[in-house]
Amino acid sequence: MQANYDVLISGYGPVGATLATLLAQQGLKVAILEREPGIYHLARAGHLDAEVMRVFQAIGVAEELEKQCAVTLGMRFLDADGALLMEWKRGGEKGALGWVSDYMFHQPTLERILRAKVNASSDIDVYLQHDVYAIENREDAVIVKAEDHRSGRLVKLTGRYLVGCDGARSLVRRTMEVEQEDLGFKQKWLVIDVEEKRDLGLERVSTQHCNPERPMYASCTSDKMLRWEIMVKPEDEIHHITKPDVIWDFIENSMRPIRREDGQLMRSAVYTFESLIARTWRRGRMFIAGDAAHRMPPFLGQGMCAGIRDASNLAWKLAAVCQGRADDTLLDTYESERRPHLKVFTEGAIEAGKFVQMRDPVELERRVRDMRDNPKAYAPPNPPLGPGLQSRHGESGLGRQFVQPAVRGSLLDSMAGHAFALVGTEQFMEQQTIAHLRSAHPSLQLIALEEGQQDLLLPWGAAAVLMRPDRYVHGAVAAVDEAISLIDKLPLKLS
Ligand SMILES: Cc1cc2nc3c(=O)[nH]c(=O)nc-3n(C[C@H](O)[C@H](O)[C@H](O)COP(=O)(O)OP(=O)(O)OC[C@H]3O[C@@H](n4cnc5c(N)ncnc54)[C@H](O)[C@@H]3O)c2cc1C
Repeated sequence: MQANYDVLISGYGPVGATLATLLAQQGLKVAILEREPGIYHLARAGHLDAEVMRVFQAIGVAEELEKQCAVTLGMRFLDADGALLMEWKRGGEKGALGWVSDYMFHQPTLERILRAKVNASSDIDVYLQHDVYAIENREDAVIVKAEDHRSGRLVKLTGRYLVGCDGARSLVRRTMEVEQEDLGFKQKWLVIDVEEKRDLGLERVSTQHCNPERPMYASCTSDKMLRWEIMVKPEDEIHHITKPDVIWDFIENSMRPIRREDGQLMRSAVYTFESLIARTWRRGRMFIAGDAAHRMPPFLGQGMCAGIRDASNLAWKLAAVCQGRADDTLLDTYESERRPHLKVFTEGAIEAGKFVQMRDPVELERRVRDMRDNPKAYAPPNPPLGPGLQSRHGESGLGRQFVQPAVRGSLLDSMAGHAFALVGTEQFMEQQTIAHLRSAHPSLQLIALEEGQQDLLLPWGAAAVLMRPDRYVHGAVAAVDEAISLIDKLPLKLS
């Protein structure tokens, strides 16, 4: 069967929009199907990190987005009386990955920016108000059937692959008949967004108030938007705690209080925070990504970030396969690399959540002592990718993000584009044998660091690293012939 599209994407949240743009930039023909007419208006995610900003840089929206973000100066964990238990300090300056390590943002604003990028691409067709109701996974193509809510017509699209970015209740995941691994976290939280009526001059620090009586979280999600998350206790009645007066009582008595006349209540909603990971992320020509594949409690602000990482990992692999540069089995490395990475973040979010909402004062006291004795054990997670393209991820920095310096005035990723790049010292790149790589692999980017930047390679103990299109390090080499052999062994052609 001749497919109309290379890739069909069900779901136009931040993950679907990012994936579509990454694919189209590499020349693939993409269709997005979305059941809703517009962007989901309620803010959910409020935090994103430097790695995710790098993905947004790759699709050309990072600078615009950055203007809409607030930089957070870190997260404080306070005890019931407000005394400081632990602090994850953030400098607010651009760091090793080329961006500030933590940004706060307003999800609908991000989605508007992503959609403008999608709309500017002639390789993406967007089918709004198209509700996917059936999927046929055939050997040669995948067929998606959707109902056009405006006309009531049933439409049928075919693609070489389908990616379900269709959120928590993913139809694609259910069609794949995949079970979810439950890591055991389940708790209701009340989420409140308030817009400042005037600049209240609040410190840009997020606060976790570990108060056994009423665990709470407060942050500034963008310039004027403030967020409170409040744990719902078993004895709470939802209709009572969501009344505006009760909400303002919570806010005024919180560790980051503001007066009700200073803010406009934008919304409140009760969410059940869960920790679920699909056991399989691929079935034949169907994949799942983002919330469709996993959900974690938001205590590290990493749920959407994980979905954007999924998109970044899968996009260049789908492009290589659709363009005949790699065998379909390359796509199996998507799950094997991403799932273990995601699981570490999910476990970290659960640990943070258990600590924040600890209601037993004795256990809390024990945890606080442990935290003071072993502060490193409470650092945010930083795992390598699972085994995949490279079987030895984790060793000597393999399967970890390469840094992003400015080289001769340009950020490294902008020089690399959406391609593999060999990044090495000036001396390494000046060797004559490098010409062989240049002619054998025209799409391979060869980037010489500036004098004085060779220390950036120290963590890899190498003269050069091979950086993948998603900016993870595939290999580290001391000599050009090692680089040639590393590239020859890749399970895909670079040009
Ligand atoms: C309170 C809260 C706080 C959070 N804080 C953070 C944070 O600080 N940082 C962070 O990184 N993450 C955070 N998250 C998580 C983040 O919001 C989600 O991970 C993210 O929105 C998931 O994006 P997605 O694109 O995978 O799915 P979604 O945004 O859910 O999009 C899925 C889309 O698929 C569409 N769809 C579904 N079924 C169909 C169908 N059959 N046919 C057509 N379309 C369909 C839906 O209409 C929807 O538009 C938070 C979540 C919550 C609830």
